[in-house]
Amino acid sequence: MQIKAKKYFGQNFLKDESIKNKIIQSIPDSKKIVEIGPGLGDLTHGLLAKCEQLVCFEIDSDLIEHLKSRFSHELEDKMQLINADALKAWGELSKQPYFLAANLPYYVATNIILKALRDKNCSGFVVMIQREVAQKFCAKNAEQNSLSLLSCLYGECELLFDVGPECFEPAPKVTSSVIKLIKNKEPDCDIAGFESFLKSCFAAPRKTLAKNLLAIAQKERILRIFEQLGIKESIRAHELNLALFLKIFDEVRDAKRQ
Ligand code: SAM
Repeated sequence: MQIKAKKYFGQNFLKDESIKNKIIQSIPDSKKIVEIGPGLGDLTHGLLAKCEQLVCFEIDSDLIEHLKSRFSHELEDKMQLINADALKAWGELSKQPYFLAANLPYYVATNIILKALRDKNCSGFVVMIQREVAQKFCAKNAEQNSLSLLSCLYGECELLFDVGPECFEPAPKVTSSVIKLIKNKEPDCDIAGFESFLKSCFAAPRKTLAKNLLAIAQKERILRIFEQLGIKESIRAHELNLALFLKIFDEVRDAKRQ
């Protein structure tokens, strides 16, 4: 069966064998692996050797037919194939502990990574995404941003290697990167609240942090918190570490409750 890639599902199929092998090698052996968007099944094939159980979520029913015939044998045993939008089927995706592996469609990559971070059943991920977004998740020091700080709550997000457009069919317009995060801690703060707090902190990165915080707290309160924590009023969000962001977050919330 001839399969035509669908742009609206973000279909860029990975064709380069050595990149496929590099991705598979970077994935730890796991009891259960979830793959989002198996596509034509090329990564899927390598993932089967890495786990006891592989569950794949694919949105495109045309590809489901192809995958059913390619993996007819495995589907009787250790593999499960679900025709669904992974974002909508997250409850089913996250029934038991799992490791996430994917060559993600660009249009939903950030949302899927954020969901995986928040999901207690997800022990970590190796995913290929657009390089620009990968650099955001893995940024450090002066480059840090809300996505890199959120990742740091769970572990270290590493950019493993870049993958050029020529490795895909059809070739995307941008370079991709493979990133890896193994969760080694579980934050005990209100994650949804902290995510929205970080968005405010980085809303206008050139402005001072205090000015950005004016959107969610009063000036006197912000200056009092900064003084208590020994933070200069002129500081910008990229200059502050995660521990201090968490402290300011707590203080701002306490002030709102009073
Ligand atoms: N894994 C294959 C590979 O590496 O060649 C395909 C990767 S392609 C970039 C993205 C895949 O995700 C496509 O098969 C696409 O149909 C599927 N997809 C797109 N949106 C999805 C969604 N919301 N839920 C599940 N699969 C999705």
